[in-house]
Amino acid sequence: MNLIELRNLYRITLNDFSIRESDYHLNILLNEYFNLDFTFININPAHKLEESQINKILKSLDKLKNNYPIDYLINKKLFLDNEFYVNEDVLIPRPETEELVNWILEDNREIKDKKRVIDIATGSGCIAISLSLYNKYFETVGVDISRKALDVCKINKKRISSKVNFSEYDIREEKIFSEKFDIIVSNPPYLTLNEILTIGDNVKFEPKIALFAPSEDPLLYYKKIINFSKINLNKKGYIYFEINPLYIREINQILAENNLNDVNFKDDFRGKKRFLKITLNE
Ligand code: GLN
Repeated sequence: MNLIELRNLYRITLNDFSIRESDYHLNILLNEYFNLDFTFININPAHKLEESQINKILKSLDKLKNNYPIDYLINKKLFLDNEFYVNEDVLIPRPETEELVNWILEDNREIKDKKRVIDIATGSGCIAISLSLYNKYFETVGVDISRKALDVCKINKKRISSKVNFSEYDIREEKIFSEKFDIIVSNPPYLTLNEILTIGDNVKFEPKIALFAPSEDPLLYYKKIINFSKINLNKKGYIYFEINPLYIREINQILAENNLNDVNFKDDFRGKKRFLKITLNE
């Protein structure tokens, strides 16, 4: 099979994709798997692939057809200009989450003293690593309940030469955490099972533990993190959350119950209320 035949097979098989998307996916895979660059692909349509290469690229076609994310196929996802390693043990970093990180960076552009930051439910480590990379005053810790996610963090820490410390911690258990912080950030699992029909098909390959909040208490993680902040957040500290836009009313209720009234909500680029900043004044 030559490149042009392969391109056509991809276009026909991936009929949910536009031609452009299909070609783009194929080019990415040819580049990642066999080091064939985009120019080579374009100017050598008759180039024949070897048997083993064809097997590999057709296997991937099959997966893509079933909405398997290309990011898992190539084990890479770009997040704020850095390439993070991803696999099925972690959520694929989202562009919305880049906006959350940018908000924190923007708010702290002028600082001249060290700030201790914790990212709770860090997943691939993308928030923690980006924060520490783009603000030299941040001393950042990332925690997660999943050991497999922490293995991914370690790969990213090495790959992006980051100083972030990662450790295992289950926020639900409310165990003592010996350090205090100036900033808490979290993008915890916040989808609910009744949303499963309305969300994209590709999430079905992502870890449920990273996506879904407990049905009986969809805001459990927010409550636990607010509890954590009562002991582990320094005075004049901040909490930044990524939130589910469908739960604003309930989130406001939790804020009121905890006397947290210095709060700012922020829209994501899709115009949905996706982020929340809580300022603690005392
Ligand atoms: N933002 C993710 C999504 O929409 C959900 C991530 C999460 O639960 N924190 O798929």
